[in-house]
This record gives sequence, C-alpha cells and structure tokens, in this order.
Amino acid sequence: MRTQFLYEKNLTGVANSVKRKQEQYLKIVRHLYYNGAASIAEIVKAVKISQPLVASLVDDLMGYGMLLDNGIGESIGGRRPNLFCINPEYQYVIGVDINLHSLNLAVFDLSNKQIHREEIKYFDLENSEEYLTALLEKIERMISRLGIAREKYLSVGISIPGLVDARHGLSHTHLSVAENGLAQYLSEKLGMSVQLDNDARIMALGEKAFGKAIDKENVLCLNLSNGIGLGMILNGELHSGKNGFAGEFGHILIDPKGELCHCGKIGCLETLTSGKILVRNVKKAIENGQPTILAQYHEEGKKIDLRAVVEAIQAGDQFAIDQLNQMCEYLGKGLVTLIHLLNPEMVIIGGKLAHTGKIVLDPVAMSMNKYAMSRISSETELVCSDLLDNSALMGTMANVMKCVLSLDE
Ligand SMILES: [Zn+2]
Repeated sequence: MRTQFLYEKNLTGVANSVKRKQEQYLKIVRHLYYNGAASIAEIVKAVKISQPLVASLVDDLMGYGMLLDNGIGESIGGRRPNLFCINPEYQYVIGVDINLHSLNLAVFDLSNKQIHREEIKYFDLENSEEYLTALLEKIERMISRLGIAREKYLSVGISIPGLVDARHGLSHTHLSVAENGLAQYLSEKLGMSVQLDNDARIMALGEKAFGKAIDKENVLCLNLSNGIGLGMILNGELHSGKNGFAGEFGHILIDPKGELCHCGKIGCLETLTSGKILVRNVKKAIENGQPTILAQYHEEGKKIDLRAVVEAIQAGDQFAIDQLNQMCEYLGKGLVTLIHLLNPEMVIIGGKLAHTGKIVLDPVAMSMNKYAMSRISSETELVCSDLLDNSALMGTMANVMKCVLSLDE
C-alpha cells in the first residue's frame, strides 16, 4: 500500500474514479513540491490536465488544507495570476539516521525544512530487541515532545548501514531480529508508514535532491565513515540493482593476500581503507609510543574513535594525516575502477571523513591521477559533500517524498 497524504485517506466513491482523482491530485502536488509555487496556467502546462479541471482540483486541495494561496505572481501580460504552493505544515516527515555508533533524528515539514533535529551520541547499533525498544522509545519521545498530532506525520524515512532490500523493507545486516522485517516492525509499532534504505543510497538521494548532485545525472556518492558505502545516481536515477544490493564498493577485492574482512572474504577494500581500520591503526600506533595528538587524547581519557581521529586530522596531526593519506591511495585505486566503468561527472565524498575536506580530497585525487585513464578521469569532478552529517537525514526526506509522490503502485 502506497503512503498517502491525509486528504487521500478521505477520498470516497467508486474505486476507479477515486484512483483517477488521486492521480490528478498527485500530479499537481508533485509539480508544486519539486518546482515551488505556481499559477493555474503553469500547473496546466506541467500536468497536462485541462484548465477548468486544474482550477477545481486546486480548489479541492485548498479545501483539504494541502495547498495555500501564495499571493500574486508575475504577470505575463494581463492580470497577474495567483500562485499556489504546498502548505508546509500540512504534514510532517520523520527522518531516522541509524549509524554504527550514533543515531540522528529529525522532523521535516513539507517545504523540506528541518523543524527539529537531535543527535544521540554513543548509541551503538546492535542486533537486539533492546536496541529496537530503545530506538522506538527515542522516536516516541521526540513525537511527544514536539506535540504534533500523530496523524499529521506522513511517513518515517530510515537510513541504515549494511545490506538493505528497500522494496521489501528488509535490513539484512542489522536489526534482523525485527519481526516481519524492520520496515513493517517499525510501521506497526509507530502506526505510520516506513520507507527504508541503505545509508549510502539514502545519502546519494540527499545529495541529488539537496546537495552537490542537484542537476547532475551521473554521480557516485561515497559514505566514508567506519565502513565504505556507495550510492550511485545513474542517468538521474538512484541505482539499486536487482535486490537493492548495488554499491557494495567496500567489498571489492583489492589485496588477495590481505586481511579477512567482516564479510567473510579476504582483502576487501574496506580492510585497507575505512574509518574502522584508521582507528585500529591509530590505537596500535599509540600503544607503540607513536608521537601524535591522539596519544594525548588517550592519556586524557578521551575515547579514540573516528570522531577523535577526524579531530586530530583537522588539528593538523602529522601522524593521523599520514594514516589518512595511505588509506586514500587504496581508495583512489578502487574509485578508478568505478570511474572507468561508469564515467561519472562527479564523485562526492561524504560521511565522517568528509569533515577533513581538502585533506582527504587531495590524496584521493592524486591516487586517481596515478591510476586512471586521464581522458576519463579529467571529466570527473571530485568534491566533498556540503550536507555532511545532515546528508542521510536529508536523504530520508527525499526518499519518503519520492515514494509518496510516485504515481505507480
Ligand atoms: Zn568484505
């Protein structure tokens, strides 16, 4: 069942005519959501429905409270037309960004504005009933604190690491204890529809809708955090593959004589270049007496995690930067394979390591220059995300709206 706007739940009549009306309303709402305020004439042109019918549908949607009269627009000769837009407060979307060691929650209005955001640090992802209970409790607490009526929530968008089958709402790597799959479990508990996808793909949707990938057709979005995720925008669309598992870039073979990966294979990219490995190497070096700011952090009792390593890199710690450089050499090598295959116009580095900006970009670019065919790679722009820690949350909003505004069942 498709997620519906509040007004859609009230439509009555013969099934076929309800469906037709629903589609007509949706075409209008979709146009206004993606393009902003528009006059009746502009809507007519975009949705290809007759002028009197559009006028009457817009009237209905105003009656439901879904649209607002946004005042007078620019004249193109003659009387200046009224502009209509979506009422941002008609409904809200909850964004849930599940990370390995933290949780971000947000509420968006229908103008994509984040009206609330909270970060719960040190919230470790575990495949347990306790984690699910704690997650639900955090979401419920946010709902009651905000005081927005429950039926005003359109849907919940979830971003989670690991293998995800978005179509069936299943998370295979994490939280598989959830009965009937994670999406259905949360949907039943919260009484709201739930849209679920892998974090890197959600971040790619965020970049496409609100970040550096706007107006781009072929973009690779990397999530460089504890692991390596990849979301691919190909020909303007998110590429998910047959089962939704596309983008397991972290598990391509780089070193056949390398280390065992947590996926069970040997020498995956992720065993050479990921936040987890960076933290592990740093910890080992501290034990061996390596001079670094991180040794000081350690002595002061600070937890040595990716957050701390990023802080040290930003502070110019030579050892931490050296470690990052080594990692980027492998990353660049892996990226070159993707660039040769897919010829993207842009590669966006996101995730925790994107906070280091130029310090991560330069060595990746250097490695790409070394290994790529220059004619192909010179056309590929390499940038850091500017949505940073917000990209997954923004992506949950983009994903929910994409699902809600889709016209096919
Ligand atoms: Zn692996």
